[in-house]
Amino acid sequence: MKKLLTEYQNFLNSNLKTNEAFYSKLKDGQSPDTLFITCSDSRICPNEVTGTKAGELFVIRNAGNTVPTEKNARGTSEGLTVEYAVTQLKVKQIVVCGHAYCGAMNAILGFDSLPSELTMIRAGLEDKLYLRDELKNYKTQTAESEVDRLIELNVIKQMENLNSYSFVKDAVNKNELKIFGWIYDFSSGKLKHKEYSDSHFEITH
Ligand SMILES: [Zn+2]
Repeated sequence: MKKLLTEYQNFLNSNLKTNEAFYSKLKDGQSPDTLFITCSDSRICPNEVTGTKAGELFVIRNAGNTVPTEKNARGTSEGLTVEYAVTQLKVKQIVVCGHAYCGAMNAILGFDSLPSELTMIRAGLEDKLYLRDELKNYKTQTAESEVDRLIELNVIKQMENLNSYSFVKDAVNKNELKIFGWIYDFSSGKLKHKEYSDSHFEITH
């Protein structure tokens, strides 16, 4: 904690002081262009890799960068956040950002050997096990290992889930919103990306 507070003091003395007007204006509201949905994994720094500042990214983070379908979203923080982002903030794009070396995806593949005392993790992953079954029929040119294929499939499924929300579908049909899938490899810098309707991922490296 001491280190965090020291760093916070440094932030106050440097960045905040130099950009006082910018930070002061944040109290007037936010109009981010992008809802960025990514994994809780500490190796992903959304603002760092997208060159964005405070006020530019609306973010959902959870293990495995998942969102429920509209049917299952009632009462979930993800559903609440997606609805607010799309209907109130009117974001122009949603990025579902999965990543290489994802512990959540590895845990889905290794679910049967997860210790029984990890009750929350097991319960949280249970409704995602269908991905393991669907992986058998998932064809792709851009991933080789089983876990990399699952990481891709998971991003595609989350884009489908987003598109199940009526207000998302409406905004997409009106050309006011686009849904993108990213797979980010923080180790090599390789980024696979596609728009929801594209058939293949493109690679930026
Ligand atoms: Zn992850």
